Amino acid sequence: MNENPCTQLRHDFPIFEVSLDDQPLCYLDSAATTQKPHQVIQAVKEFYQSQNANVHRGLHTLSEQATIAYEAVRGKIAQFLNVQSREIVWTSGATASLNLIAYGLSERLNEGDVILLSPLEHHANIIPWQLAAQRTGARIELLPVDTQGILQLKQAKALIASLKPKVLSVCHASNALGNINDVAALIGSCKKLDTITVIDGAQSLLHLRPDLQQLDCDFYVFSAHKALGPTGLGGLYGRYELLNALPVYQSGGEMIDTVSFTGTTFRPAPEKFEPGTPNIAGVIGFGAALEYLMALEHDSLFQHEQALYRTLVEQLSDIDGIRIWGDTTHNVGTISFSYKKEHHYDLATLLNTHGIAVRSGHHCTQPLMAHLGIEGTIRVSLAFYNNHQDICRFIAALKDTISLLEE
Ligand code: PMP
Repeated sequence: MNENPCTQLRHDFPIFEVSLDDQPLCYLDSAATTQKPHQVIQAVKEFYQSQNANVHRGLHTLSEQATIAYEAVRGKIAQFLNVQSREIVWTSGATASLNLIAYGLSERLNEGDVILLSPLEHHANIIPWQLAAQRTGARIELLPVDTQGILQLKQAKALIASLKPKVLSVCHASNALGNINDVAALIGSCKKLDTITVIDGAQSLLHLRPDLQQLDCDFYVFSAHKALGPTGLGGLYGRYELLNALPVYQSGGEMIDTVSFTGTTFRPAPEKFEPGTPNIAGVIGFGAALEYLMALEHDSLFQHEQALYRTLVEQLSDIDGIRIWGDTTHNVGTISFSYKKEHHYDLATLLNTHGIAVRSGHHCTQPLMAHLGIEGTIRVSLAFYNNHQDICRFIAALKDTISLLEE
């Protein structure tokens, strides 16, 4: 099997030198969080060691340098997504970004307006809209998804045309099943209707590296930790006029022009959405992650992930009693499956004894699990640092686990 240049890249990730219970780590949980290359770890360490200062506050050299480095990363993610720096807001993650957007767009929602979501959504792209609906009297409707968990595009487009939603908020790729949704087609249908489009890119930033000008969405949210960056950091892109028109969500220092007891005036976006001391070290670390990714050829990473994914699908499909959920033809390299009536928890626990890290459960998508008529799945999720050996180890451990359960 040709492992391509990604084999070398694995050496950039120190975690793979770690042994758990004397077994090398077989990490198949990148949809939960990706591993970090030493460039990211080093950047965070160096920041605290020799550059640490608060940003936007001091005239002293260290603070000025920290501010420049911090703001440069806004430029990097903007370049990565092909948008303008002022259209990027830093948050603590995709969850915070979706809350900010749903809260802000509530101002535009009225009784009876439709917020269109899909049954595939992560809870972070459901609950903020439920709260917005409660506040405004808007109602949530759902795009059609079949019994396998696949979005039905033709009917979805027809539904958009008939419901004329005020907001469409969907995931680019499902965290539970890995399906890639044709969000470009959905956004296209929304354009004719002035529907505001929000794309949950938590699972797509790394794997699909989207060009947002091409995608033409109004908002796109992401988490740094799912794209090699540190945890506790994420952000959002917002089309500038729309973004700047959103109301302040959280308030405090740094986001103001003037404050007095008769009133406060706010800075324009993105500053008005970034009160308080930000996650400076996280941003610096994410900058290193973006540099690392931008130096690599995205296509070859994607092809490598897809080749591993296809092997995984083939080998899993050959095992009697395995049921794979979702769309295996358009997928970011995440596979969700069940084995007969066995509980996903038992399988994952036994796999863990082989040093295999997979996720089991509802993956924060309880409505999707209810739609599929199951409680949860085992989820194996890949990234470019995985290799063929990981797949072999996983399949061998799974077969072993199954024979144990069948005894
Ligand atoms: N949306 C999707 C599709 C996700 O996978 C996740 C994380 N699992 C989130 C939103 C929330 O991201 P975070 O926990 O990093 O805020």
